[in-house]
Amino acid sequence: MNNNVNKNLDINNRNAIINTTNITKTYMIGDIKVKALMGINLRISEGEFVTVMGPSGSGKSTLMNIIGCLDTPTSGTYILENIDVSKLNDDQLADIRNKKVGFVFQTYNLLPRSNAIHNVELPLIYSKDKVINKSKKILSTLQSVGLSGWEKHKPSELSGGQQQRVAIARALINNPSIILADEPTGNLDSVTGEEIIAIFQKLNREGKTIILVTHELSIAHHTQRIIYLRDGIITNQEKIANPVNAEEKLAVMPKLEDKMKLMQAGEIS
Ligand code: ADP
Ligand code: MG
Repeated sequence: MNNNVNKNLDINNRNAIINTTNITKTYMIGDIKVKALMGINLRISEGEFVTVMGPSGSGKSTLMNIIGCLDTPTSGTYILENIDVSKLNDDQLADIRNKKVGFVFQTYNLLPRSNAIHNVELPLIYSKDKVINKSKKILSTLQSVGLSGWEKHKPSELSGGQQQRVAIARALINNPSIILADEPTGNLDSVTGEEIIAIFQKLNREGKTIILVTHELSIAHHTQRIIYLRDGIITNQEKIANPVNAEEKLAVMPKLEDKMKLMQAGEIS
């Protein structure tokens, strides 16, 4: 797809990268059926940045797991980049997931004893394709998320925001077309959260399709569309005409260090 042509088209006219028809997911707990998704029809265009919002238990993570090929629907069809994912076996699913999807989670999910380089390297170890210039690739990916100088640090030696940057680098290392981020700012203060969203916006400008789950409307307003989920169905969708630019917002937000100084001086509490 030619990106220059792509940019000139309205989002709705672009190629659908994700297309689900009547997806359901029912979990069995013993004899009890839990209907987590009850007929999801969702179309996400190539290069879109969307948010999924909804109360706890509404099915957000279940939907992300299906979109990310971590799990399969109980019924319905799911077309990912023209591939009918609902018909694939576990091996094929793992292969697609590794090539096309990068995951970012609220709790970072890093290996605690491994440094940033080794955490980012992990998906390459599972990749079937031979990777050339592996270490150069890892270092440049860490640099692209602002972690130059922190490559040899372990998670416990990094701040929350830095750990999430490592997780984003790990999600990017196989050059996926889709990034799925399940409450990636949930454990972060507002400035750090904004910095993480700024990275996602940059990646989106570079062409990545991004699906973000969040509880915070202020975060959702940084994306192009909000999909509201409740009790396993999509109840509403809202287009954001002018998404908030995280870089611009950061420029006028008080920095955490400045806030601390003011608190120490007794000027704010
Ligand atoms: P959300 O991410 O919006 O909080 P989830 O997708 O995690 O919602 O869960 C949707 C529903 O499915 C909830 O009722 C939850 O308890 C149930 N559920 C999620 N995962 C499982 C599972 N592995 N086994 C059984 N029930 C599950
Ligand atoms: Mg969840």
